[in-house]
Amino acid sequence: METLNTLISINFDLLTVVLLVIFFTAENVLNTQFKFDKMGKHLLENIGFLILITLLNLFWAGIIVAGVDWLNSNQIGLFHYLNMPIWLFLLLSLMLFDMANYWFHRIAHNVSFLWSFHRVHHSDSRMDASSNIRVHPIELVFYFGSSSFLMAAIFGLDTTGLGLYVLVIIPYVFIEHCNLKYPTWIDKTFGLVFTTPNFHRVHHDQDEFYTNSNYADIFILWDRIFGTFKYKHPEEVKLGLKEFDDQKQSFWYLMKTPFINIPRHSDTNQNSK
Ligand SMILES: [Zn+2]
Ligand SMILES: [Zn+2]
Repeated sequence: METLNTLISINFDLLTVVLLVIFFTAENVLNTQFKFDKMGKHLLENIGFLILITLLNLFWAGIIVAGVDWLNSNQIGLFHYLNMPIWLFLLLSLMLFDMANYWFHRIAHNVSFLWSFHRVHHSDSRMDASSNIRVHPIELVFYFGSSSFLMAAIFGLDTTGLGLYVLVIIPYVFIEHCNLKYPTWIDKTFGLVFTTPNFHRVHHDQDEFYTNSNYADIFILWDRIFGTFKYKHPEEVKLGLKEFDDQKQSFWYLMKTPFINIPRHSDTNQNSK
């Protein structure tokens, strides 16, 4: 428990920067599966989001911790009334936070106001470790804050469980987006329970049938249980969004894009029928 407390007290923003350096170096030194030019420029485009998210965390992370602590100190949530070993409480915390994010992610794909923020992440037509930090800061506030408060309020999850979840999810999403060659046997074994990079790649496909699938960050179990798991061979995936294909995707353009009316490609197609 002491080791866990030490681990979750590390600076998560610093961890993100260290991982970005490690994965970017690995992608340039090792054999990448999907080669693309100007990886450095792509990194610089996405790094603006990391800077904003780090600034946001200066106060937002404190608000989340204070809110969850308040719920716990008032004994709000189911697990306050159940006796369970700490390992089970932590495992359930990891799974339930992940399940909440599965639903928030799924909702973000189906509510057009939320999609206009989330599509920033999907607009990337090339994918590497830096695509993971390409998240509109307003989306992060909605997504991570709401899911944390909700799970703490319903189940009584605490900041130790939340810290463990963040500690696991930060490296996990780097692995998920990283442009390295992963053997396909991983999909058939590990992928029965966990989201693999190939599964997440399908989620980034331009075809909306596949974009609206594989929402889970860690446990692909949620997609399997709630009927949204889909598979396509990674070589056949075409990344990005058709409605962004002709746009010059600068950092400032992407920051503004939630406030610009850009119809989803499928909607445009339906209207023209
Ligand atoms: Zn998505
Ligand atoms: Zn992604």
